[in-house]
Amino acid sequence: MNFIDLNAQYKALEKDIDQAIQKVLDSGKYINGDEVKKLAKELADYCGVKYCLPCANGTDALVLALKALDIKKNDAVFVPTFTFFASAETIAQVGATPIFIDIDNTFNIDTQKLEKAIKEVKKKTDLNPKAILTVDLFGQPADYIKIEKIAKKYNLKIIEDSAQGFGGEIKGRKACSFGDISTTSFFPAKPLGCYGDGGAIFTDDKELFELLSSYAVHGKGSYKYDNVRIGYNSRLDTIQAAILLVKLRAFKDFELTKRNDIAKKYTKNLKEKYTTPYVKKGFLSSWAQYTLILSDEMDREDLIKYLKEKDIPSMVYYPIPMHLQTAFGGYNFNLDDLKYSEELCKKVLSIPMSPYLTDDDQNKIIKVLLEY
Ligand SMILES: *Cc1c(COP(=O)(O)O)cnc(C)c1O
Repeated sequence: MNFIDLNAQYKALEKDIDQAIQKVLDSGKYINGDEVKKLAKELADYCGVKYCLPCANGTDALVLALKALDIKKNDAVFVPTFTFFASAETIAQVGATPIFIDIDNTFNIDTQKLEKAIKEVKKKTDLNPKAILTVDLFGQPADYIKIEKIAKKYNLKIIEDSAQGFGGEIKGRKACSFGDISTTSFFPAKPLGCYGDGGAIFTDDKELFELLSSYAVHGKGSYKYDNVRIGYNSRLDTIQAAILLVKLRAFKDFELTKRNDIAKKYTKNLKEKYTTPYVKKGFLSSWAQYTLILSDEMDREDLIKYLKEKDIPSMVYYPIPMHLQTAFGGYNFNLDDLKYSEELCKKVLSIPMSPYLTDDDQNKIIKVLLEY
């Protein structure tokens, strides 16, 4: 059994994907071809934002967003400590200081602890609080209803890291539309993935979009060979855009619904024995991961071994919170408030989740987890 069955997805969409790739091969426009523009428009429409800039990967998308918001040395950026490294790494990469915040029972940033940390940074440090970099972890949007109020109160920008959140919703508003700038990743295993690296940036602000477009093309001014700032080279290949156009259709037509059906069945069957993911009322998850929290008595290593013996793969997302990563040794702040994330790192276990997970396989996973 596969943890995420990318091959089953390819088999289901094979004809359309092969045709789309062949069309790009025949066109000769391997960079910035028509498919890239078409994808940008379809992504913007789907997410309900004005502008979308496809780029090379989800990490670049975050760096470009931070640069466009002029976040730099002496700036503080608030970020959940329970996330993938790139969310925090990029803050440090532009010279700013990540301030790590605990998560709540949705796996997303704890908004009460967030507000407390903002006050403490103002009182106890010389840093300028500039932005909140929220993460839509495992597919569920962070609580933007609360986060937007806090951002307004303390005059902070919001960068939405929706690498795992594409397709999620809060009361009909789509993920990738919540931040001043939102970002996503098309890494193959994400809810919407391509066949290599890819990413995209979203905003409603025309000026920010122009800045993002400049940073992504060597700091271009009026054209590519007029360079007005130090930038990057971050593009999505035409072939990847062509693949994503096919996959976006499947995502809209049935994959997002299927992911939710599979999650519902897991929850219904496993909730007596395991702590199953909590999705807030009015929120929709795109289930980048389905993550259980094991009880105190359970031995995670032993369960992983037991599952493996029955050919069931599982993953630990994430084993180490950001504030305990070696690379962030010098960045520790408000450590007392990060205990829930530390606890979860020892108790979480993600199980196979894909719209192509078969009934037989899901039934087997449930049976083995209940048997254990
Ligand atoms: C995957 C991921 C990224 C980085 O995306 P890449 O395309 O791999 O660079 C950033 N943030 C989060 C939360 C992610 O899961």
